[in-house]
Amino acid sequence: MKDCQKILEIKNLSVSVNNKVIIENLNLNINKGEIHAIMGKNGSGKSTLAKVISGHPLYHINEGEIFFKNINITNEEPDIRAHRGIFLAFQYPVEVPGVSNIDFLRSAYNSQMQKLKKETVDPLAFFELVNEEMKNIQIESKFLNRSLNEGFSGGEKKKNEILQMLLLKKDLCILDEIDSGLDVDALKDIANNINKFHNENNAILFITHYQKLIDYIKPTHVHIMDKGNIKISGNKNLALEIDKYGYEKIV
Ligand code: ADP
Ligand code: MG
Repeated sequence: MKDCQKILEIKNLSVSVNNKVIIENLNLNINKGEIHAIMGKNGSGKSTLAKVISGHPLYHINEGEIFFKNINITNEEPDIRAHRGIFLAFQYPVEVPGVSNIDFLRSAYNSQMQKLKKETVDPLAFFELVNEEMKNIQIESKFLNRSLNEGFSGGEKKKNEILQMLLLKKDLCILDEIDSGLDVDALKDIANNINKFHNENNAILFITHYQKLIDYIKPTHVHIMDKGNIKISGNKNLALEIDKYGYEKIV
């Protein structure tokens, strides 16, 4: 595989939070066009991995390196990583009272446009743009005027994260349990949007417990995390085995 194909390379990563080691000696390579799923028991370090890739300041890297498109981003701030093209949809999206959803979305969008030296959009133009994307995920436009995530149901929060993903169009999208809180119809919509969004130049890393999402999204790679490391990697059949036998028998 040529070097320019690389999106993410994690080498020998060890991470701790409050002096407790959570991830140890983890390696992961993601190339353009790939979709990786991470599964694993609660507490195995999946969300920590997602947050470390996006540069969450709480987590301390003890050892190892993270490369994004061949650039060492190990010590970079989260906003720089975002501008380089990393997007994270949180497992638990934060509620931000007083900041309207549409203002937040437009500011994230325009900040990216500025970085790319492209034209920013005014509120009216952005409203049209966001409405186009919203049609795909069945969120009503009244959500735009509410405070960011405040009082949103679990499923609405997740749809809002997907809306951000669709608007920002980053090269690596990390989706942490994007399926939790969604009913079956919403799950299908979200999966269809992820599939439509994915192309040969970007990559997706999603964390899930559910076979259904694996069936819909059809990842090229499936990894099982346990005790802070990737213990087994395979294709989507690995997820089927987990579904059938459980983690205890496989890991
Ligand atoms: P998963 O997403 O696989 O369920 P997490 O990455 O959320 O697991 O957590 C892995 C381990 O790290 C758990 O034991 C969790 O309690 C611990 N952990 C994660 N974040 C923190 C934190 N901010 N402070 C203390 N412990 C944490
Ligand atoms: Mg988690």
